[in-house]
Amino acid sequence: MVKRNAGALKPAVFLDRDGVLTIPEFRDGRSFAPRTLEAFQIYPDAPACVRELKQAGFLVVVVTNQPDVGAGIVAQDVVEEMHVRLRADVPVDDIEVCYETREQATDRRKPGAGMLKDAARRWGIDLGASFMVGDRDSDIEAARRAGCTAVFIDLGYSDAGPTRQAATVSSLREATDWILRRGEPACVSDAGGRHANDHRI
Ligand SMILES: [Mg+2]
Repeated sequence: MVKRNAGALKPAVFLDRDGVLTIPEFRDGRSFAPRTLEAFQIYPDAPACVRELKQAGFLVVVVTNQPDVGAGIVAQDVVEEMHVRLRADVPVDDIEVCYETREQATDRRKPGAGMLKDAARRWGIDLGASFMVGDRDSDIEAARRAGCTAVFIDLGYSDAGPTRQAATVSSLREATDWILRRGEPACVSDAGGRHANDHRI
């Protein structure tokens, strides 16, 4: 449906938050979102990566599940303050947040594609020319449902990783370099190999 007006639409890079832009807490081979402002730490190279993506012509939109708010474990104010700090350090264009727990989930909660689609409507994004970078299967599945190319950051979690991503990398820096190697955004929508097999680097 977006293809018809693709010339007027912009490509985006959607970024998951925890494990992509911010350092998650690791316990027992799993990762957890920070629950306090003290624990909220941004990867040192995140600002430069986002700057490079924007310079290449991408909108950069964070899409993050924060179910600890829906579960009453973390106050929404705390997450909102985290995002004030994130925006101050990293030049993202927008942040889409879903506070729902698994039980409360609508299509906005990843692996649903609702946050990506809402951002696409608001910003005029060509989802088919866009990328989603994440560290969980739910990020890769949300990308698939939205029609975006998925890049998986493998942080070595103990659960089985996703299989439908276009590339597997180990950091936002590698994800950024992989996306930028695909060419300028104007060329991306013409690339035939966007959903080709995993390019592990
Ligand atoms: Mg994550």
